[in-house]
Amino acid sequence: MKYISTRGDATPLSFEDVVLTGLAPDGGLYIPESLPKFSQEEIASWAGLSYQELAFKVISPFVAGEIPDEDLQKIINESYSTFRHDAIAPMVQTGHNEWILELFQGPTLAFKDFALQFLGNLLDYILKKRDQKVVVMGATSGDTGSAAIEGCRHCDNIDIFILHPHNRVSDVQRRQMTTVLEDNVHNIAMEGNFDDCQNMVKASFGDQSFLPEGRQLVAVNSINWARIMAQIVYYFYSALALGAPARPVSFSVPTGNFGDIFAGYLAKQMGLPIDQLVIGTNANDILHRCISDNDHSKKELIHSLSPSMDIMVSSNFERLLFDLYGRKGADIKQLMEDFKSGSMSLSDEALSTARELFTSYRLGDEETIDVIRDVFESTEYLLDPHTAIGVQAARKTRRRQDIPMVCLSTAHPAKFPEAVRKAGQSEDPALPHHMTDLFDREERLQVLDNDLSVVQQYVTDNVRT
Ligand SMILES: *Cc1c(COP(=O)(O)O)cnc(C)c1O
Repeated sequence: MKYISTRGDATPLSFEDVVLTGLAPDGGLYIPESLPKFSQEEIASWAGLSYQELAFKVISPFVAGEIPDEDLQKIINESYSTFRHDAIAPMVQTGHNEWILELFQGPTLAFKDFALQFLGNLLDYILKKRDQKVVVMGATSGDTGSAAIEGCRHCDNIDIFILHPHNRVSDVQRRQMTTVLEDNVHNIAMEGNFDDCQNMVKASFGDQSFLPEGRQLVAVNSINWARIMAQIVYYFYSALALGAPARPVSFSVPTGNFGDIFAGYLAKQMGLPIDQLVIGTNANDILHRCISDNDHSKKELIHSLSPSMDIMVSSNFERLLFDLYGRKGADIKQLMEDFKSGSMSLSDEALSTARELFTSYRLGDEETIDVIRDVFESTEYLLDPHTAIGVQAARKTRRRQDIPMVCLSTAHPAKFPEAVRKAGQSEDPALPHHMTDLFDREERLQVLDNDLSVVQQYVTDNVRT
């Protein structure tokens, strides 16, 4: 299987090479040259498989023999052995035909563990085989950093540097990163905001000459194909549990960078009968505006109670656009060129296809709090603010009550106590058992100026030789 760039102007890569990179040299994102398709009979035959067994079925066509089956299954098994719940992705019912898919049973309490536990083990395997060492560099507003650190902490061939905006992530989020004390893990608290952190990482990927001889940077944000791929699995897993492929299933996804819901779109293209795919956004609503009004324009960032969805631009949307424009890289290149000015419009055809595939809904903090309160009052089930956005988006845009609606729960409520308190809970939700001592653990972090040469010097000095 080859991987090509959405902008059509980069040399195709093998699976392993695509895992070891970031953006394509032409500025695009990598995507498989063709998607594997499963028949209804084949999908039906997977009913009852464990999460790990099913993951192998879904993932192996993308790897296409580059990793022996036995090794791939082992990587998958290890990746999900760190989850607290035997079902890996259990479901809870909160209404008529409405289900919460709990994707927060991994080590850092957010769905990003599904992709980053897997990516960490996959990188470890590929690097050992090649006898190669790499540097992971990433920016985080909270959840990505801790999940990436948990994924890479045990990898001898990786030095990982995570930049977060100093004093601008929650205490739980910061401590999940800074209490990991392995000597290949480096937390940089930068004097700046998340955008500054991200720009610094982008600049470093663009010119990697500051790295020691023979090292390269690997991306762990959702531009890394392996992350998207790992997320396809839980769409199949939950749909099978609810009777697919004999009956269709719908999904609602609290959306930021469009990675998670894009995996749902791929599941549908691969043969899973999905009726609706609902995009839930907070006040940072570029996707909702795009689908409803063809207004894909940058607006100033708004800090919300669902900070993991606070984005100005959804980077993975480009992967969808590639399909909407008939996989013509030159068109995407032009579109992205237009977007540099801050805004772009979709063609009529692309927009109408997008509207067939997706419905969308936006809600602000107040409505989010109301949803957390309402769901708790009717079911005693406590939603985190991101999940609440998905639940409300589903309730507002649902077309058919007879089709199960699966709302992806992307984080554990204990990660976002502020929103939960505002929704009327008298106490902060308890952290799961393995984290109850989080606030007693030793922290290690480095505060650095918002200065590229300072940050790069720090990386150079701390990469293990
Ligand atoms: C990252 C994240 C999201 C957004 O996911 P995307 O793939 O960026 O759309 C939603 N909720 C939580 C809790 C997250 O950490």
